[in-house]
Amino acid sequence: MSDRKLALVTGGSRGIGRAVCLCLAAQGMDIALTYTGGKEAADATAEECRVLGVTAECFQADVRSSEACAELVKKVTASFGRIDVLVNNAGITKDTLIMRMSDSDFEDVLRVNAFGAFYMMREVSRIMLKARRGRIINISSVVGLTGNAGQVNYSASKAAVIGMTKSLARELASRKITVNAVAPGFIRTDMTMKMDEKTREAILTKIPLGEMGRPEDIAETVAFLAGDRSGYITGQVFCVDGGMAM
Ligand code: NAP
Repeated sequence: MSDRKLALVTGGSRGIGRAVCLCLAAQGMDIALTYTGGKEAADATAEECRVLGVTAECFQADVRSSEACAELVKKVTASFGRIDVLVNNAGITKDTLIMRMSDSDFEDVLRVNAFGAFYMMREVSRIMLKARRGRIINISSVVGLTGNAGQVNYSASKAAVIGMTKSLARELASRKITVNAVAPGFIRTDMTMKMDEKTREAILTKIPLGEMGRPEDIAETVAFLAGDRSGYITGQVFCVDGGMAM
């Protein structure tokens, strides 16, 4: 086992999660990344991390299940012997106006984005409390702060993530474990590329900096929060959004 720190990144196979894995690997951390269906993408990301000189392993885990999250944390600690950084990044959208939003549209999004983050934080907190150190970074969204038409489910899940971040930051602060959230704006990934062009154009007009963000823009902020220079920051929400939510 190496002396390098270990970062566990949920949904690290592609999009923002992939960029986070690469940025943390470039910072010298070993990487455990998860995926659900996209094994090829996950393997490719892990290989890119290895090229940067660290150890990286993929784990299939559906964060909707508390048992799967507990099993994942067991496997990661068995492989790496530690978890220094947890990035709760796995997320989905099921956008539609409220009168068309089904029970399952609402539940599925809350299950992945909010319950998943809760299960992971509960499992990993136990390890970090024993180690008396750790960094938890939750990927929320600006719509968790501002709301957005067509995203009652998603914005509820991302507001829940912010609430959990602040509460857990208070619970873990005495052990020097920090818990922060990053709230991306409109970032170029599969999640936003599946929107129709008209919707994307409309969102672009609301971004003061005038362009979509890159996954790397989010990853750089996560890497700062995961590193040694951010030890006095906890319970905060960092908007990385080209000015959308100011
Ligand atoms: P993405 O490209 O759609 O990637 C989603 C990732 O989550 C994939 O790795 C996927 O794994 C994983 N995932 C999906 N369902 C899962 C489940 N049930 N259990 C475990 N993992 C699961 O999304 P993204 O745009 O990079 O978004 C990453 C995070 O940033 C999300 O939390 C999202 O809400 C947030 N965010 C994104 C934007 C944006 O503009 N893109 C803005 C604000 C916030 P598979 O590959 O196996 O499916």
